[in-house]
Amino acid sequence: MKNTDRSKWKMNTRLNHPQRITPSDSNPPLLAPIYQSVKFVVSEEVGYSNQFIYSRISNPTLKQLEMSLCEIQKKQDCIVFSSGIAAISGMLLGLLKSGDHIITFRELYKPGRVFIRDMLPRFGITSSIISLNNIQSLEKSIQPGVTKVIHFESPTNPNLDIADINFIIGIARKYNIIVSMDGTFAGLHQHTEFDVDLMIQSLTKFGNGHGDVLAGSIAGKKILINQIRQMSFMLGASLDPHAAFLIERGLKTYLLRYERHCKNAQQVAEFLNTHPKVQKVFYPGLAESHSHALAKKQMKQMGAVVSFILDPKAGQIADQFCHKLKLIQFAVSLGSTESIICPTHFFFGDDLIENDKNEMGIGPYSIRLSVGLEDAEDLIDDLKEALG
Ligand SMILES: *Cc1c(COP(=O)(O)O)cnc(C)c1O
Repeated sequence: MKNTDRSKWKMNTRLNHPQRITPSDSNPPLLAPIYQSVKFVVSEEVGYSNQFIYSRISNPTLKQLEMSLCEIQKKQDCIVFSSGIAAISGMLLGLLKSGDHIITFRELYKPGRVFIRDMLPRFGITSSIISLNNIQSLEKSIQPGVTKVIHFESPTNPNLDIADINFIIGIARKYNIIVSMDGTFAGLHQHTEFDVDLMIQSLTKFGNGHGDVLAGSIAGKKILINQIRQMSFMLGASLDPHAAFLIERGLKTYLLRYERHCKNAQQVAEFLNTHPKVQKVFYPGLAESHSHALAKKQMKQMGAVVSFILDPKAGQIADQFCHKLKLIQFAVSLGSTESIICPTHFFFGDDLIENDKNEMGIGPYSIRLSVGLEDAEDLIDDLKEALG
């Protein structure tokens, strides 16, 4: 602000241009302030494209979060969004144009799958949706020069399938295709050694960790992030600075929380795995799990989501079971401090054909549990009682 003589102003002017406290460089706040301002005063000393101007385009609090996310994910650049799904749709609209083709997998988180399969055709963008169980068909699905992106998730939501990341990258490189990975379930610190072009995260989950903020991010190659940025300030799914501050706060305990989440999840998965009324458990940390071998090669920690199928002979469907629990709450989402559980067929599979659902292990008896930070014994007691 330019120096002004306040004393000559009347009260409405004074109230709308309050005095400011700007601590000196030798007496800064220990925590960075939240720049809860949509606009920044434009300076005549610097070029306009090198300034903060409008928070839909950039803001210091968002920039700080983007830098932290680059650091933990070991990526060149990062852009944050108002939700994980905004990051996914922003990435696709930023990179693809009419006539392009994308390959993805049926095991994808439902809204992403629906966006690619049902919405992108409106813009002339076609897709092939294959299965992670049939990854050999990936190369056959490529239309050279037309396929621009391969987008996958690992582990997948809800049933923890693991994608063979180097296999996908190897094929994509042959045809000059961009590889985008959604690493939400594995968190921000895993898979950093893989050369995916773009890493998507729903920060709503473990990044924030407290279930009180929606946010998403894309980290990766600078040239691609720049291209997405050009689109994102027109799509307008910007993150609010206060939400960015809360994510940054969550990151301080992220590694501690993730470790404890995983320890609890392993105990809960082992309990479920030996219970006679549970037909099948999906958790990459179990030696018997379908995804264990590949997960061990790619991940150090197996995550906090445990999915399972109740034995139909035990007489209760997933919805009844989830409502019966007392400590573990029936709610969607994951990665919060509190444990939450929901049936998978209605929330994550109702757009799929019956055969796909059967092969993916989604049905009336299937359940997804996000293990929180409570004491594992209490969670196991709750599950034991509801299993009966
Ligand atoms: C939750 C989730 C998303 C979407 O994130 P939101 O922040 O809810 O928009 C995307 N991908 C995966 C794997 C998720 O679990």
